[in-house]
Amino acid sequence: MNIKIPVLIAVLAANLISCQETTEQTSIPNVKAQTAPVEPKVSAYKHLKTVDFLTGNFNPAKHQDFEAIPAKLADRAGMYAHKECLIAFKKMHTAAAKEGINIVIRSAARNFDYQRSIWEAKWSGDRILSGGINAKKQIPEPLARAKEIMKYSAMPGASRHHWGTDLDFNAFENSYFEKGEGLKLFNWLEEHAISFGFGRPYIAKGEDRPNGYEEEKWHWSYLPISTELTQFAADSLTNQDLKGFSGSETASDLQVKEHYILGISNDCLWH
Ligand SMILES: [Zn+2]
Repeated sequence: MNIKIPVLIAVLAANLISCQETTEQTSIPNVKAQTAPVEPKVSAYKHLKTVDFLTGNFNPAKHQDFEAIPAKLADRAGMYAHKECLIAFKKMHTAAAKEGINIVIRSAARNFDYQRSIWEAKWSGDRILSGGINAKKQIPEPLARAKEIMKYSAMPGASRHHWGTDLDFNAFENSYFEKGEGLKLFNWLEEHAISFGFGRPYIAKGEDRPNGYEEEKWHWSYLPISTELTQFAADSLTNQDLKGFSGSETASDLQVKEHYILGISNDCLWH
């Protein structure tokens, strides 16, 4: 027995040394990490920061970052959104459904060609504007005509719907969201949407938002991506990039980038 105790002590001591060695070994990478220079944060959306993407010159059905929206979440099949926006929307949809609220996507990604078809139909008078206005007949002057259309419709190349991050819910009239089911939905979104990453760019115009489209209570934006794209637009897009459609010559005079693309709520700007 007397002989065994020193052996036991020796074994314990050896274990202690080996533990220390192990500790030292594992601590080496930490020391290195602490002393390494801080790498600048690389955006996960860097590849989306091109003027072509920003202006919707791609096909959402073929873009690797986009995914088809299941028809049960929308009023029709065939719409697309950025896949991360869609994941967040599904979570929000489930949470709302638990409270008896049904969020229905009415519009999602729209590329340049799609937006041009809306714009040119309004520009040419083929599609009547809200308030029963025939833009071509009643507003011959180009700047005034573009301004009237832009109360609710973006110029091709200048729509947040190009980005796959912006969704329209349930109805295209503010009045829908001011009573009954619509009001219940709106109040729920105002309280909870931000916790799923969604914000509302087109709040009522006023001191905080003097320029841009009229209020749209139906339009919500997935901010983790769209704030970065908005910042990229501020830095890199010019009004001359808005081209290839009837009336595009008005973009610079109307300062579409400054007043419309950046004419959004403070919550939806980068900080
Ligand atoms: Zn919209």
